[in-house]
Amino acid sequence: MRWEDYRRSSNVVNRRGEGGRSFGGGGGMVGLMLLRAIFSRFGIVGVVVAVGAFFLLSQMGVNPLGSSGGQSVRGGEGGTSPYDAEIDAILATTEDVWTEQFQANGLGDYPEPTLNLFAGGVQTQGCGFANAAVGPFYCPGGQQVYLDTSFFEQLDRQLGAPGDFARAYVIAHEVGHHVQTVTGISQQVSQMQARTGERSGADSAQVRMELMADCFAGVWANNAQRLDGFTLEEGDIQEGLRAAQAIGDDALQRKSQGRVVPDSFTHGTSEQRQRWLSVGYRSGDMRACDTLSAQDL
Ligand SMILES: [Zn+2]
Repeated sequence: MRWEDYRRSSNVVNRRGEGGRSFGGGGGMVGLMLLRAIFSRFGIVGVVVAVGAFFLLSQMGVNPLGSSGGQSVRGGEGGTSPYDAEIDAILATTEDVWTEQFQANGLGDYPEPTLNLFAGGVQTQGCGFANAAVGPFYCPGGQQVYLDTSFFEQLDRQLGAPGDFARAYVIAHEVGHHVQTVTGISQQVSQMQARTGERSGADSAQVRMELMADCFAGVWANNAQRLDGFTLEEGDIQEGLRAAQAIGDDALQRKSQGRVVPDSFTHGTSEQRQRWLSVGYRSGDMRACDTLSAQDL
């Protein structure tokens, strides 16, 4: 994948300074170690002075531990990752592809989602507090994607799905959920789920929605390769398929619990995820992604 010459999205917000690093999180550890060091050197008076100074500085809006209060945007004090530039460029390609797709399908203007980078945990807009363990996700409330880039390390090292296109597929899949939300598909499905009470299962609406997001990721890839300044390279699609394989419900269940329980599927099997990613990629047309009425998944 070549994305370096592509524009960067302005919708990425770096919130790594919150949650995982705030005082009480990772910063709490640093603070505790600092206080212990002060205590051993200056005794309890030193600690009282240090704590007083901390609160004084906090009141003034300065975080004495250096991590930001959460308003920091890209490149701020929230910490960075080697993937940040790539994420900015990929999100920009999704914006341009979906703007085009929405126009072509008479869906009006594409409302661009925000992508929040976080580390450890994050307070979401509408989906409560989320821990990085849940993996990347989309929260429809605020139309926001949340991503802890440690998932990319996991994808590479634990799931055996390395590569820039594997990472791009993850982002494009979450953006796919955004597309489902702003087109009203998610709402219809939620109402249906509320009636049936069904939340998982090999043939559930939940799985069908996830496979549609995979298909939308394929639609993105097909159209993105026509954008100026963005190129797919040999092996990219294979990287995506390998990732789709790695995060299939059957593969994950086999890995974590040694057996496969189709009734608890939420995202579809490896084979299904690969198939729908391919359907989207081959067609480049979001109308090909109608997993809700597909007979065969
Ligand atoms: Zn999903």
